[in-house]
Formats: sequence, structure tokens, C-alpha cells
Amino acid sequence: MSQFHQITVLGTGVLGSQIAFQTAYSGFPVVAYDISDEALEAATARFAKLADIYRAQVPGAADGAADAAIARIRLSADLADAVRDADLVIEAVPESLEVKRATYAKLADVAPAKTVFATNSSTLLPSAIADWTGRPEQFLALHFANEIWIHNTGEIMGHPGTDPAVFAAVSAFAAEIGMVPIEIRKEQPGYLLNSLLVPLLDAAGQLYADGIAEPEAVDAAWRIGTGAPAGPFQIFDVVGLTTAYNVSIANPNPKAQAFAKLLKERFIDQGKLGVATGEGFYSY
Ligand code: NAD
Repeated sequence: MSQFHQITVLGTGVLGSQIAFQTAYSGFPVVAYDISDEALEAATARFAKLADIYRAQVPGAADGAADAAIARIRLSADLADAVRDADLVIEAVPESLEVKRATYAKLADVAPAKTVFATNSSTLLPSAIADWTGRPEQFLALHFANEIWIHNTGEIMGHPGTDPAVFAAVSAFAAEIGMVPIEIRKEQPGYLLNSLLVPLLDAAGQLYADGIAEPEAVDAAWRIGTGAPAGPFQIFDVVGLTTAYNVSIANPNPKAQAFAKLLKERFIDQGKLGVATGEGFYSY
């Protein structure tokens, strides 16, 4: 058993709602915090939708377990109230350094001294936030993937000041909520998955932009050659072509710029954004 019993999740958007639901589904009492009553109304709808998804996709969820998860979640728009009894706070507020720092500064004032803080940030390193937490040794990243009930990794990454005992406790907790703990020994932008995936996607985009091969050929080479279930252009369609464009345009490499231009002209400007719109490199 990990040392955490009461969990609070900050932010009930795409990932926060999934983290809160999965944690409650695993038997923990959860407080889900968001900034306003309107945001909490949206959270209620998200939890109901997640319960439907779990009933359809997670074995056993239809036998009352999804409803029991919802019953374990308490909603709050009052930060002090939300973290009053928290052993662990998992933060999933918007991906902005300013918003995160301001959130931790407020949290530091109202959370009990025992509370461990974990950020779900995808791109910000814990060391960029640690000084705002008021307890840097009890702060680290616990990074989940979208569709947590299928893609159940929990990447755990501290900063140089994180207490190794806290790191171990968060890793144990990740396993208790059904994640496969992925322990990262040093701070690394992109954690493990994106450190591997981004170069693959970059290379694929550049092969296409250079006219070397069509997406279907690149994907077939990758799938058949490695046994992977999807090729890079199938992954682009799942991630969404707007995100693919944003990543590519931020890369100064001229080949990445050429791929970004092509994505915009051939896909985004035609409303083809990937799986979400029914068309991207493939039709769905
Ligand atoms: P989102 O925009 O869907 O949700 C953010 C939530 O935070 C909203 O409910 C919003 O009302 C709330 N919020 C806004 N300001 C707040 C504040 N000051 N304090 C508390 N809550 C506030 O965002 P998301 O996609 O869920 O991303 C949240 C975090 O999770 C980010 O750090 C992101 O990098 C990370 N993440 C996202 C994904 C993904 O696929 N979306 C995957 C892994 C990690």
C-alpha cells in the first residue's frame, strides 16, 4: 500500500477528469477541484461520459464499479476545502508556466504540510515549478497519457531536490491505480515516450515533405518491419494534425518547416485534422 489515502485532482479538463475517475475507480476517495461552478458542471458531464466509456471498454465496470467510482468523487471549487485532507494532490491545470506557478503558490499556503504534489505537465520540467510549491522535496511529475484506461502509463520524474522516498511512494501509488509505473531517473523534456516518439514523427514528416515516399509506404515499412500496430502517419491522425503542425512549425529545421507548410495547405486548411474530423492522412 502506498502512503496516500486521500487524493485531490486540480483541474477537471481532458486529463484531470480521467485521472480523478481512474483514481476513484481504483477505490480511492477523490476530490476534484476546478476554478468555478461552471467548470464543475462540465466535470460532472465528463465523469458521466467516462463512466459510459468504462462500462463499454473496461471489464467489470458495467457491474456497478463505474457508478461506485462516481460516488467516490467529491467536487469542490474552493482550493482550501479541496486539499484539506489530501495526502497527494495531482495537478492537471492548463499547460502554462504562469498558471502552474500561480496555482502552486496558492496551494502551498492551504495544503497540509504532509501533502505531496505531483504535476501532470507534458512539457514543463518539475524544476521550473519546484520553487513555487513551498515543499520542493515533496514535488515531482506524475505524467499520464490520454485515454488513461487504455494507455495506462504513469511516468514518474522528479527534479534534483525530490526526496527519493516521495518518488518511491508516488511510483507505488501509480501501480495502485492501475498504471504501469515508468520511473525516470533524471529530468528529461518529453519524459520517455515523447523522447522516442517525437524524433520518429519528425523523421516520417520529413520523408513525406522531401517526396521520398507516401504516408502509406512509410507506415507499412514501420509496421511490418518492427511489428508495431501503427505507423507514424496513423499516429499523426490520432494525435491530431493541429498539434502535429504546432510541434513542426516550432522546429527550426527547414525540413520540419516544409512538413508544417504541407500539413497546413493539404490538410488543416481543408478541415482535415485527423481521426477527430474523420479525415487526415487516412479516412475514418
Ligand atoms: P484542459 O484545458 O482540458 O483542462 C484544464 C482544466 O483546468 C480545465 O478544467 C480548467 O477549468 C482548469 N483550470 C483552469 N485554470 C485553472 C486554475 N488556475 N486552477 C485550477 N484549474 C484550472 O487541459 P488538459 O488537456 O487536461 O491538460 C491539463 C494538463 O495535463 C496539462 O499540464 C497538460 O500538459 C497535461 N496533459 C495533457 C494531455 C492531453 O492529452 N490532453 C496528456 C498528458 C498530460
